[in-house]
Parts: sequence; structure tokens; C-alpha cells
Amino acid sequence: AHTENKESLLEKDRTYMWHHMSPYNPNPMIAAESKGAWVTDVEGNVYLDGMSGLWCVNIGYGRQELAEAAYEQLKTLAYFPLTQSHVPGIKLAEKISEWLGDEYRVFFSNSGSEANEVAFKIARQYHQQKGQPSRYKIVSRYRAYHGNSMGALAATGQGVRKHKYEPLAPGFLHVPPPYCYRCPFGKTYGSCNLECAEVYDQVINWECAETVAAVIMEPTITGGGVIVPPPEYLPKVREICDKHGVLLIIDEVICGVGRSGQKFGHQNFGVKPDIVTMAKGITSGYLPLSATAVRAGIADCFNEAGINQHFRHINTFGGNPAACALALKNMELIEEEGLIQRAEELGHALRAKLSVIEDHPNVGDIRSFGLICGIEMVENRETKEPAAPDKVAQVIGECKKRRMIIGKNGDTVPGFHNILTLAPPFSTTDEDLDFLVRVVKESFDTL
Ligand code: PLP
Repeated sequence: AHTENKESLLEKDRTYMWHHMSPYNPNPMIAAESKGAWVTDVEGNVYLDGMSGLWCVNIGYGRQELAEAAYEQLKTLAYFPLTQSHVPGIKLAEKISEWLGDEYRVFFSNSGSEANEVAFKIARQYHQQKGQPSRYKIVSRYRAYHGNSMGALAATGQGVRKHKYEPLAPGFLHVPPPYCYRCPFGKTYGSCNLECAEVYDQVINWECAETVAAVIMEPTITGGGVIVPPPEYLPKVREICDKHGVLLIIDEVICGVGRSGQKFGHQNFGVKPDIVTMAKGITSGYLPLSATAVRAGIADCFNEAGINQHFRHINTFGGNPAACALALKNMELIEEEGLIQRAEELGHALRAKLSVIEDHPNVGDIRSFGLICGIEMVENRETKEPAAPDKVAQVIGECKKRRMIIGKNGDTVPGFHNILTLAPPFSTTDEDLDFLVRVVKESFDTL
């Protein structure tokens, strides 16, 4: 199928393509096809995709049923705006509500960033319509990533991604993350009084609760370094939000749709969010789609409010019928094939098997949440000095040589470049997992 050789494609790539995160990538992998957990490049080399693309190909590559669901829908009704409605949109909204286990109203967009923008706008307008127009601030966490647009990037707690684009949207502030390995409060879990959660109470008081609209967080910080909170953290934050009349937005863009070993990541902690955002895994990355699910009680306030109080937000492509039909099929297959349980099993197995590198001098900490894993690399296990960037790059390069794709969090910033990430598809077989762990071990052995 690929009649052009790699050199000629690379030449065109250099001339015409502006890559994400870097304008020029001298030697990108040029993917051609994929199946299960594996991706083949134009030269026929086959790689195990330890990152499911960008943490999104949950069900795995090459599922014919998803292509067919989109194809059938495109033939029947390719497009219709959601100022009105359409059948796959209605069915998908119902399915999302069902998975959330409560009555939520679902607003569709195209990307995780947009889903979060929608959440911020709904939170602000909700408070206005409830007679508290001074509530506009959104509290997020350092290290979190919530997207690339001006509001979602403002919520992001990674200065290096933001500083060349500032000023961003006003009204966003950050608290330290629940990062037990390097506790920002200098405490040890067990005797810490959960200061990382209590800090919300302080910050909301200091800011004046009547100015705070919402808190946004992922169930576990993923791209910011796989920072898994203690089990009491989310319930405590929920309690603090309730005490101050602040909405809780949970960003399930990565953790959602089975990746955490539950339908949604927050379900591991027994909390009910006010707003849930999702993208990536909702279509397993096959087509762009995202959703902002809003608790019925909050959504009702927009219905009741009457003319001029509606949610003034529209986008042309959000909730495209083919994307909705594909997402619905994706969720149905995940259910029918027991893939959420499989993700949980794979996550446990991956963490257990990674014990082979636990004592390596450059491994400081291994953290996992469902089928998401982070390996924090250090120079020195005692001092926890972060591993030098070239060591991290070496492991990634050695994995690539052995035909396995492994991820890395954040940018090359001191103390924020040193966490390797793994989030393979749910279609990963036991043999694939053994291969993945063997490659990780061999790659660390080269250091
Ligand atoms: N939220 C989280 C937690 C993410 O990881 C991402 C993307 O990686 C986003 C939001 C933004 O999603 P998108 O890239 O689809 O805009």
C-alpha cells in the first residue's frame, strides 16, 4: 500500500508538516497501519504501542466494528447540528449518563480542551444564574494538564507550557499536587493530616469563597507525572467543595472510559462530581469527540432560567453523528468484552511485573492507577535527585530500538522531565505485556 519510500516521505514531512510540540522532528516514526496493541511503520517495522497513541486507543487498534459504525452513520446522516438533535447523539448521551451512574446532561465537543472550556463556562454561568455572580475563580493543581486553549491552558499547572503564550484566561489559580513521593508540604503519608486536600479549604477561604466557582482535577494526575492521590483525597476535596458551595469538575479525559479499571476514574474514590469531562478513550481515538457531563440539578438551572439565560456556546462539529455512533459502539464493545476488568487486570499485572526494575539505581518510584503507570527516574535513590534528561532519553531510545513505544511526562524542565509513562491498550495480550516489561528491563540495563 505504501509505494513511496521513507526518505521521500521524510522529505515531504520536513517540507510540509508542522509536528505537534515541535515544528521539526528529524526522524519521526511514520505510521502506516495498526492492529491490537501494535503499530507498523512505512518500512514494515512493528512497534508495541505502550502509550495507546496519546493515552487514547483504549479498545486497541484495528476494530472493524468501529469503522463500520462510523461508515453506516455517515451513509445515513453524516451531519446535523446539536442545536437540534440526532439519534446517535441521544443514545450516546444516555450511555454516558448510565456509565456515570446518575442523571447527567451531556454537551458534546471535539477535544478534551474544549470539554474543559465548556465546563468552566457552565460553572461560571451556573453561579451567576443562582444569584452568585462574583464566583468566577477556578482552582486547579500544579503539574496538571487540562488542555491547550486559553482557558484549559490557564487551568494547566505547568509553567513551561504556558509562559510564551501568557497572559492566558484570568481567574485560574493552583494548589500543590498530592505528590507523596516528593510531598510539597514536606510530610509523610500517614502523619500528614492530608494537607494536600486541606489546602483547598485554606485557599478558598483566603481567596474568599464567594469568588470561587469550581475546582478542576483529574482523578490521578496523568500527563503531569502519574501522581496518584491517597484514597481519602478526593472525598476530602468533595467535602471542602460542598462546604464552600464550589463545583467539582473531574477531568476524565485520560482516566475515563475504563482506563482506571472502573468506568470512570473518580468511581475508584466513591465521589460524585458536579461536572465530568471526557474525550480520548470515548472513541478510543478513532474519531474526535469529547463530552462535558453536567449533573441534572445544575443543568436544570439553565432550562428553568428562560430566555437569555441559556448556555451561549455552540460548535459546528461537536457531537458529529458518526463520531457519536462510533463512540457508542466503542462503549458497547468495552462492556460486552469485559474490557474494563481486563484493563484493571492488566494494570495490576504490569505493576507487579515491573518489580524487576524496582531495585535499579535509577528507579525512584513506580506508581500506577488502573492501566496507567509512571516510572520516576532518579540519579540517586537517597537524595531523589531527578535523573538527567539524557538518561531518560536513553531509556526511551533503547525501548524504541527494541520496538516498543514508551512515554514521558512534561517537558525538559528540572524535576519535571523524569517520569516515564505507560498506558497500553486494553487489547494488550499477556504475551504483549511480557514483551513490554522485558523491553523496559533491558532498556534500564543499558544505563
Ligand atoms: N485533559 C487531560 C487530562 C489531558 O490529558 C488532555 C490531553 O492530553 C486534555 C485535557 C486535552 O485534550 P485534547 O488534547 O483532546 O484537547
